[in-house]
Amino acid sequence: MAIDVLERGDLQFPRSLPEFQRIFPDEAACAVYLERARWGNGFICSHCAVADDPRYISTRPGVLRCRHCRGDTSLTAGTVMERTHTPLSVWFWAAYLVTSQTPGISAVQFQRQLGLSRYETAFQILHKLRVGMVRPDQDRIGAKPDEHVEADETYVGGRTRGEGRGMHHKTLVAAAVEVRHRNRDSVLNNRRNSRYAGRVRLAVVSDRGADALCGFIKSVVAPGARIITDDWSGYAGLTKRGYDHVSIAERGDPQVAEEFMPIVHLVFSNLKTWLRGIHHGVSPQHLQAYLNEFTFRFNRRFYPFNAFRSLLGIAGDVTALTYAELYAKKSRSTISSERV
Ligand SMILES: [Zn+2]
Repeated sequence: MAIDVLERGDLQFPRSLPEFQRIFPDEAACAVYLERARWGNGFICSHCAVADDPRYISTRPGVLRCRHCRGDTSLTAGTVMERTHTPLSVWFWAAYLVTSQTPGISAVQFQRQLGLSRYETAFQILHKLRVGMVRPDQDRIGAKPDEHVEADETYVGGRTRGEGRGMHHKTLVAAAVEVRHRNRDSVLNNRRNSRYAGRVRLAVVSDRGADALCGFIKSVVAPGARIITDDWSGYAGLTKRGYDHVSIAERGDPQVAEEFMPIVHLVFSNLKTWLRGIHHGVSPQHLQAYLNEFTFRFNRRFYPFNAFRSLLGIAGDVTALTYAELYAKKSRSTISSERV
């Protein structure tokens, strides 16, 4: 079930691909949607501040022209689509596919579905949307008294080809996830286990030391929250840092972990399946961006409407690197630096 928490009835969210094509048949439809999203109570000129219906320019669908001062206002200014050379409809397709398909979409799948000639364009669009999946005002989780937080760390990805068995090139990922309880009076509470996941936070961490793990917790979990971890020494300082810390001795027994920290293990399992299945492994360099996408999707899994608009609109608060900038460190100079 999908819920529109912002209740913008004037901004439709398509429930299927045919519905998408009906709501967004062309560039003009996308432009009207952007105008409504940005000026819900009617367009106001950014130059002369007069409120009046603007003119649309057929050759420049991303631009509104004021009828009074003839000044132009960009519909995409401040969004992830700013100064784009890619049609608005392609961005809308991308945001729709990313937010509506449960497992997400790879750049190769995306390139094929939209018939884009260049892989770099597909990669760049998806990457920009992914950068927009981090909200700068991210608040800390676990602040509600009826919730607690499970925290743990795990190794992700990596290739061992030609180097024998082991942890080569694996990256350490830390997770903290809110655990909520279904209302005891709820009809949903007829199962033995009524715990379920609230919001999640994920980050690449340098090592399993206390500075890295406690530093992660401090940045993502509200002070004073109850946190359950295993008895690894890296978490031992949490009480001193002001948390209501419960440390569980797993002693290698999976049953213990299942009983006390089921949610964070479920998150790790979902994350690894997603990384393997959709993206066929991710290099450490890009892993944090994928963690951000997983987090965004996970935390909005009941709210695709909001996710869609968030990607197209609010996403503009974050500046994305170009494809070339992403790869500059690897000095692959053959990749074009043109904007998408
Ligand atoms: Zn004006």
